[in-house]
Order: sequence, then C-alpha cells, then structure tokens
Amino acid sequence: MAANQNERLKIVIIGAGPAGLTAGLEAINLGHDVVVAEQDPEYVGGISRTVKKEGYRFDIGGHRFFSKNTEIQKWWKARLSEDFLKVDRQSRIYFENKFFDYPLDLKNVLANLGLWQCAMCFLSYLKSRIFPIKNVKSFEDWVINQFGNKLYQTFFKSYTEKVWGISCSKISKDWAAQRIKGLSMSQAILHAIRPQKKGPAKIKTLINKFNYPRFGPGQLWEETADTIVQKGGTILMGQKAIEFQKDGNKIRSATFSDKDGNTTTIEGDHFLVSMPLSKTISGLSGNVPDKVKAAASHLTYRDFLTVALVLKDKDLFTDQWIYIHDPNVRVGRIQNYKNWSKWMIPEEGYSCLGLEYFCNTTDDFWNWKDEELIQLAKQECSQLGFTSDNAIEKGFVVRAPKAYPVYTEDYSSKIIEIKKYLDTIDNLQVIGRNGMHKYNNQDHSMMTAILAVKNLGARTSADRPYDLWKVNSDAAYHEETKVEFNAGRATPEPIKPNS
Ligand SMILES: Cc1cc2nc3c(=O)[nH]c(=O)nc-3n(C[C@H](O)[C@H](O)[C@H](O)COP(=O)(O)OP(=O)(O)OC[C@H]3O[C@@H](n4cnc5c(N)ncnc54)[C@H](O)[C@@H]3O)c2cc1C
Repeated sequence: MAANQNERLKIVIIGAGPAGLTAGLEAINLGHDVVVAEQDPEYVGGISRTVKKEGYRFDIGGHRFFSKNTEIQKWWKARLSEDFLKVDRQSRIYFENKFFDYPLDLKNVLANLGLWQCAMCFLSYLKSRIFPIKNVKSFEDWVINQFGNKLYQTFFKSYTEKVWGISCSKISKDWAAQRIKGLSMSQAILHAIRPQKKGPAKIKTLINKFNYPRFGPGQLWEETADTIVQKGGTILMGQKAIEFQKDGNKIRSATFSDKDGNTTTIEGDHFLVSMPLSKTISGLSGNVPDKVKAAASHLTYRDFLTVALVLKDKDLFTDQWIYIHDPNVRVGRIQNYKNWSKWMIPEEGYSCLGLEYFCNTTDDFWNWKDEELIQLAKQECSQLGFTSDNAIEKGFVVRAPKAYPVYTEDYSSKIIEIKKYLDTIDNLQVIGRNGMHKYNNQDHSMMTAILAVKNLGARTSADRPYDLWKVNSDAAYHEETKVEFNAGRATPEPIKPNS
C-alpha cells in the first residue's frame, strides 16, 4: 500500500557523498523535510570530493564524469552548465622508463619496445596459443593464455598487484574474464592499427573524452549541498551515524556522534543510508540475527591515499594521469590535476601532481607520518624522472579509507543475507557505493539515490516500486534482471581453496 504521494515526510540521509546529496535534492524537490548528516567536518562529496589546500584542488583519484544514463547526464549538466568542461582524455602507461599510449597504439608500442622486443612478445603470445596453460586458475594464467607472458609482465602484472595488494597468481581467473572481457589481443591490435575515429572508442574502458567540472568533482557536490540548504534542508557536518534505533519493522531514530563524542539523536520517517553497509548493520539496535551480523562483518575494503606534490614546473606532461607499471616504485598512478582543468591550480607556472598509493588501513604504510609519505612521493617522482627532488615545494596527504569495496570469494551470498534482512525494515534503504557494497561510479550511486526517493511513498518495503539492487553498472534499471552483484567494475576474488 502506497502512502499519499503528497505527504510531507522527514527524510534522514546518512552521508553527503554523491548518493546522499542526490537523494537530498530529489527529496526536497518533492517537498519533504531533509536532514543530511555527514561525518566529515569539512567536505561534502565523499570519495568524489575535491580537497583544497592553499588554493590547490585535487581529487581522490581523478573523477571522470561519464554516464550512459541520459537522466544522470542531464542532472550534471543542469547543475554545472558552462562549468561542465569537455576534456580530451590523455593517459599513458609508464613501464621500463618508457611511456606507452593508453589506449595502446601499435606504432607507439613498436617504437617503445623495438622490433626485437615486439618479436619476443609475439613469440610469447604464439607460445601461449599453442601451449596454453591447461588448468587455468588464476588471473595470471588467464592473461598469459590470452596475451602471452611478455605482454602480461608489461601491461598487467605490476599495476594489478599494486591496486589490489594480491599476487596475480592468487587472484581468481573469473575476475580477469570479467575485467578484461571485450579486450582480446586481436581487438587490441585491430584498435591499434586502425586510424582513430572521433567519438567513443569501441573497446571497453577506452573512452577518449569525458566531462569534468571546472573546479573538480567537489564543485558539483558543494553546489548541490548549497541548493539543499537554500531550499530549506539541513546539512549537519562532523556528525557520524553510530546507531539506528529500531522499533518493530521501522527505524525510529538515528544517533550521531561528533569528534568529541557528544551525541545527538534525530527522529525521521525514512532513512536513506550511504555509509558502509557493514557499519549500517552493526549500528542497528534490537535483535539483528547473528548470521546477518556475521555476513556484514565479512565485508572488506581496499584503502587509498594520495600524496599531492606542488612544484614549479609548467611543462611536466600533458596526460591527466599515468599508470605506473614500474615494480620498483610503490606509487600506482600519477595525476596531473592541471590537465583535468587548469582551474585546479591557483598559480601560473605551477603544477600539482597526485601520487596515488593503494593500501590497507592495517598496513604500516597507512600510518606513516605525512612527512614520510611526502618524502617517499618526492623520491619516487624523481626516480621515475618526472621532476627533480628540489623542484617540489610542498606536499599534502589525503587518506581515503574504504575507497574500494572488495568482492571476496563468497561476498555475494553475504549480501543476499543482508538484503533479505534489510527488506524487513520498511523505512530504511541503503544507497550508493559502500552503502550497497558495489564497486561503481558516481552515476550508479546517484541512480540508486534517485530511485530510493521514488520509493519513499511506499508504506512497506514490499510495496517499493524499485529494487535498488537492480541498478546496473551503466546506472540503468533493469526490471528483468535478477539482483545484480557482480555487475560493472569488479574487484578481484582470491582463488577458492578447492579450485
Ligand atoms: C580512486 C577512485 C577513482 C574514482 N574515479 C571515478 C571516476 O572517474 N568517475 C566516477 O564517476 N566515479 C569514480 N569513482 C567512484 C566515486 O568516487 C564513487 O562512486 C562515489 O563517490 C560514490 O558516492 P557515494 O555517495 O555512494 O559514496 P561516498 O562517496 O563514499 O560517500 C559516502 C559519504 O558518507 C559519509 N559517511 C560514511 N560513514 C558515515 C557515517 N557513519 N555517518 C555519516 N556519514 C558517513 C562519508 O564520509 C562520505 O562523505 C572513483 C573512486 C575511487 C576510489
């Protein structure tokens, strides 16, 4: 049974990232009362925020705005208008002191590797075709069979191991099949030989233009937060949701804690929650079944930190980002923020590079002092030949815990368990990336938020017209599909012990 669509409800939203703010704006536009609570004391935008330090702006990883969903494209454009820049993508791979165009270009590969190395790659590819690894178990086996060992070493091994912190020989083959499907050797060669046409490239992941807000992704989310406030909504900063008080099939209120441990409790009619799913479940009061709690505690994440270096050097490189496949350095990717938008840099003649490190909060590395991380980044930058150590004037460190929800071996059964339980709560919907433990982009997170707001009229969870789990990685809603967990940019699973 649906409630009166005109009923004014109090909507409590947890998290002011893309999902939370999209939900906030959509709900306020329908005439609801909106409170968005964000744990960060300063920034809205979540992982899509733009950090500002002394006038320099940088992303948590570069954020391309690209969506196949026209509703989302319009949403972005309506808010950013002239500030929604169109950027020509340029990115390369750095390996063995050379830069390889990415997407790969045959002439460039030939020039970099030389005829002899190319011949070796080809022979290694032929060898894999004639004598493939029979019992394919790992990512390593799968890629070697597909591309040959030499190309695997050049273009796959080191970067994958940096991102996920697992040896490629321990990652399940299923991830490779999903991650690299649509990018076979023959397609890559064809793509490299054919002259580049204008418009989106055909091969998966090789999109050659994207949109970007003039002042970084945070501009969109700051503007959205401001609009919510102008329309009468409330955004509470520095308020971390720690508990949801459950009463029968409903959440009555949520309790928040500030940095000093002071708590506030807010009542609401509906709760839209984008905080990590594991924390949502552990924060539910009342009798949550042990198996649901156990399933939630099983969810894991990969963390991420950026060291931004400011340097007086105007002619560094023209790429937006460079993948660092060199195994001798720890950095995985380097951003040059000026090449995303020149408005990210306050001073003429200066650049700001973002050295990205993938890690876990449990690693010693995560707890290194900022000065130690800046020193490492400076040293790696000069080791790679990007700039000399003394050109760097200052650095900043930004830590992003839970940047990537990880799909462990049996995570999907855990999600099914959690979803089943959440379906018993009539006024709580989980939305967004960590909110639903889905490794997806902004557009997907936003789509789950838009649909969650459309569900607000339903009195019970069974009456909701949209099942948010059916939003796929293209940010499209597919009624016919079953609940989708593995859609989109998958994260690797370790090999199952008995496979
Ligand atoms: C390195 C990297 C690169 C990326 N590149 C792109 C890209 O190019 N294009 C793209 O579209 N997407 C990209 N993404 C994905 C994008 O960042 C996410 O899809 C998007 O930010 C998810 O939005 P969200 O609101 O679901 O979650 P989040 O951005 O995680 O926001 C959740 C918010 O909830 C807050 N929160 C958490 N717990 C609590 C709590 N207990 N109480 C209150 N608040 C809480 C957080 O502080 C945060 O502000 C990238 C992600 C990473 C890590």
